[in-house]
Amino acid sequence: MALVNEHFLKLPGSYLFSDIAKKVNTFKITHPKQDIIRLGIGDVTRPLPKACIEAMHKAVEEMTSVETFRGYGPEQGYDFLIEAIIKNDYAPRGIHLSPTEVFVNDGAKSDTGNIGDILRHDNSVGVTDPIYPVYIDSNVMCGRAGVLDTQSGKWSNVTYMPCTAENHFIPAIPEKRIDIVYLCYPNNPTGTTLTKAELKKWVDYALANDILILFDAAYEAYIREPDIPHSIYEIKGAKKCAIEFRSFSKTAGFTGIRCGYTVVPKELTAATLEGERIPLNQLWNRRQCTKFNGTSYITQRAAEAIYTSEGKEQIQETINYYMTNARIMKEGLESTGLKVYGGVNAPYLWVKTPNGISSWRFFDQMLYEANVVGTPGVGFGPSGEGYIRLTAFGERDDCIEAMQRIKNRL
Ligand SMILES: *Cc1c(COP(=O)(O)O)cnc(C)c1O
Repeated sequence: MALVNEHFLKLPGSYLFSDIAKKVNTFKITHPKQDIIRLGIGDVTRPLPKACIEAMHKAVEEMTSVETFRGYGPEQGYDFLIEAIIKNDYAPRGIHLSPTEVFVNDGAKSDTGNIGDILRHDNSVGVTDPIYPVYIDSNVMCGRAGVLDTQSGKWSNVTYMPCTAENHFIPAIPEKRIDIVYLCYPNNPTGTTLTKAELKKWVDYALANDILILFDAAYEAYIREPDIPHSIYEIKGAKKCAIEFRSFSKTAGFTGIRCGYTVVPKELTAATLEGERIPLNQLWNRRQCTKFNGTSYITQRAAEAIYTSEGKEQIQETINYYMTNARIMKEGLESTGLKVYGGVNAPYLWVKTPNGISSWRFFDQMLYEANVVGTPGVGFGPSGEGYIRLTAFGERDDCIEAMQRIKNRL
């Protein structure tokens, strides 16, 4: 008899986006003449950079002849891409990585979800709240999260670190002992960041207490301000305590192409029960070689092209487009007296609901009065209650029109 992994049965359904869709559909049926602007989009919308398109065409051509055809590539990624990553994303920041410390993948979701494979099931996990759901759900699936308390919406073996306006969205070091902590900066959903000094506190805490930091830097390319670390390895000692996840999804519009990478430094170790230290790079390499057969050659050539001078210029243009949207939205919302966080170093705006109303009430109000759709903050965790997330991934004209409507009607 085949038995299922019963940890999966503990996962509550993920209803956030279907609940939103239902509400929007109901509105459309009862208000067929009103047009809706969606500012809840969690996906990029601008087309791929030309440099990437050209690189992919060229790579496809190579597949047509025996001399240049490529089959299986290295599981860890092609040298040409790994070298471009090290040379462009790390060396200019004074971070020296060896090619074997970089693992190319098919996006950051896979690796942030899979990294738990190399960690014992009974490690205790810390997360910021609100949160990108992959961090928790992937731990639930292997039993590491414990049991769900339906009242609070929290898992028994997960320590939640609230990030709200009250603490300026800076998670406090937990009192309870944890073994692994997920940090995502710039943050989805709040759009907030940590300064170097704030991130250093976490690195120092991790080093002093033998904690592994899983650092998601998917929005690194959106950082505008000077004192915000692009990589956790800008902090001294971080190579001994942190794995970093990067993605080309938000950087270069690769959400459909699928490519990212994970850095597992050579000096990073974790313990066995007997106290022996094991390099995590070695374990992750073994895991990838067994379960992953590499990102497609065509995709990796596209990713390499991001690092050409044309590629860099083109991705910057797109990022500027989104960040101008973010500025227009932030200014528009603030002019109505709303309190808005994020949107400066990230394409997300985290808006405090007026008069302390709930996330869902404000969602309804925005939908019915301004015909604008956001994402209720409570959908990202208990501490998201009282907020709504807007994204800057929409069309410019829609952003402008949405702000007008909010100003006039709310
Ligand atoms: C979008 C996003 C990613 C990137 O995921 P991919 O699988 O690379 O597309 C990673 N982390 C967070 C927090 C995100 O919002």
